[in-house]
Amino acid sequence: MKRDTMEFDIVGVGGGVATFATVLRLLKRIKQAAPAKAPSVLIVEKGAMTGAHILSGAVLDPEPLTELLSAEERSKMPIGARVKTENFYRLTRNQALRLPWIPPALSAHNFPIVSLSSLSKYLGQLCEEAGAEIGTGFSAAELLQTDGRVTGIRIGDKGIDKHGSPKPIFEPGPDISAKVVILGEGACGKLTEKLIAGKGLRARGNPQAYAIGIKEIYETQAVPGRAGTIAHTFGYPLAGHAYGGGFLYCPSDTKVAVGLVTALDYAEAALNPHDLFRLYKRHPLVHSFLADSKVIAYGAKVLPEGGFYSLPALASEGALIVGDAAGLLDSLRLKGIHIALQSGIAAGDTLFDCWQQNDFSLSALSAYPRRLQASSGWRQMKRIRNVRACFTLGTLPGIAGAALSLFTNGLLPPGRWRLEPDWQHLRRKGAARARPEAPGAAAIASGLQLDRLSDLFYSGTKHEENQPCHLKIIDTERCKECIPKFGAPCTLFCPAQVYTLASEGDRIQIDAGNCLHCKTCQIKDPLENIEWNLPEGGGGPNYVGM
Ligand code: SF4
Repeated sequence: MKRDTMEFDIVGVGGGVATFATVLRLLKRIKQAAPAKAPSVLIVEKGAMTGAHILSGAVLDPEPLTELLSAEERSKMPIGARVKTENFYRLTRNQALRLPWIPPALSAHNFPIVSLSSLSKYLGQLCEEAGAEIGTGFSAAELLQTDGRVTGIRIGDKGIDKHGSPKPIFEPGPDISAKVVILGEGACGKLTEKLIAGKGLRARGNPQAYAIGIKEIYETQAVPGRAGTIAHTFGYPLAGHAYGGGFLYCPSDTKVAVGLVTALDYAEAALNPHDLFRLYKRHPLVHSFLADSKVIAYGAKVLPEGGFYSLPALASEGALIVGDAAGLLDSLRLKGIHIALQSGIAAGDTLFDCWQQNDFSLSALSAYPRRLQASSGWRQMKRIRNVRACFTLGTLPGIAGAALSLFTNGLLPPGRWRLEPDWQHLRRKGAARARPEAPGAAAIASGLQLDRLSDLFYSGTKHEENQPCHLKIIDTERCKECIPKFGAPCTLFCPAQVYTLASEGDRIQIDAGNCLHCKTCQIKDPLENIEWNLPEGGGGPNYVGM
């Protein structure tokens, strides 16, 4: 098969804020310095459009944007209301106890409420105006390597049928060579994970720990003055079942974003994060925000919570890892966008120096992590480096660990507290406690309690049907061990109901067309028996305003 080849100076994988910040910073600095030749830059994004696969809460810590964008660019940013009323609640089944005080380290006062998919789209436009090319609907299927150095990417083939044979429209994906590849694929990115494993980059000791965030946006009757109101919650319905919490954000008087983040190190095989999300919406506090409303958007994705000791080396021969792909997230505040931007700024500055000196060696690229270490986001990750591990012992040890870390500026708890991979935490079916009862038919009929398949409609998910299944059960014999032992947990943890138990009860059926690309199945399967692969570019969710 003959593949086209293309050549760019810099290639970015994944059209999210970290990649865009890297490219924008580089091209802006190039414009200021006006060297004889500017680098050619291509960003490939597997979603059908920029921002289509991007989802977050989100309340944005805007500090890095003042460094990245001009005042005029900031004034045109697509943002919602700024936070003017914020509350923390501890929820019990029917009550909400408002905390009298929010520690300054957790406060988001005056931060804008944003849609990360819209913000990514906007930063993508600025990159294009600065001279970069963006190719949407293209999956980066492989990293090209020569003598151990990353030298580019291979784009996934298009037009292969479900049996693996080429269709008449078959198009082999081109090979794109580059001096440097920026890996900004988001959490659990396919190429990033391969590079980390292949090069032994997971240097700090702990595996990455993940959580699944499930989110809906509701359109409500106008409630004057509600724009800028946010609430964070902990306790019900997760208490005793999983670590995590919920959020309610009002970007305007007529919209509410509601979400629940469930850590994937839960033990109960019968737990279903989407059922928990439905229980959450039934709580009187949450329900009060959603009265007279209708859902307009749905989505789910994983976020990397492991923190400082789960970070891989961020630079390798020919590649830089930025944003969520690297695991750059403040797990105490569950905020990663500002660190993604800071990593982009540090990577962009490094690439600028590399370009000026025509030196793309590992030693030149290694200036990126050194620069990032000076950022506020990195310092905070270091300060709270053991907090996520403390929460694996329970809520009270977690709160104590967080308080100690904040008051001692990270000196305590000392040493490195261990994290185990999320899939190892699942207990046998018989050892699991009963899961909370999911809402009944009446609650579902109210329209606020959509089941997974009804919710899926609001994610805009679509895949080409006649293509190889991108989800692989590695060994179907192992399903026969998993089903009696764990009760087929893949049928429960997937937020899109992709996996169902066949009527014979010993086999899993896969409806890959529903996949939201959240990666939960690859992380949480207790026998590590599911492999998530890239489907044909352009498939997947189509998030708008998420
Ligand atoms: Fe997420 Fe896997 Fe389900 Fe796709 S199949 S939505 S990646 S859990």
